[in-house]
Amino acid sequence: MPFDPSCPDCNEKMEFGFIPDATYGAVVETHWHPGTPKEAKFFGISSGTVIEKARMIPVRAWRCPKCGLLRVYAKAEGPRPHDP
Ligand SMILES: [Zn+2]
Repeated sequence: MPFDPSCPDCNEKMEFGFIPDATYGAVVETHWHPGTPKEAKFFGISSGTVIEKARMIPVRAWRCPKCGLLRVYAKAEGPRPHDP
């Protein structure tokens, strides 16, 4: 079933997109991860955040072109943008 939301504030059709996340020399898609972030250590030195890749879910976002409101979802299955 297509997911084609409208803005709840101004009723404009929302535009599909994603939230890029910059990292070392690359830009990746943002993901949701369950739980509280825990600092990862490598030989006692901070090396980022502990993650379980299998539990990560891509974040999908729809933006209202009129007011800028974002609707953000992290669902294992969809929602996906409506195919034109
Ligand atoms: Zn709006």
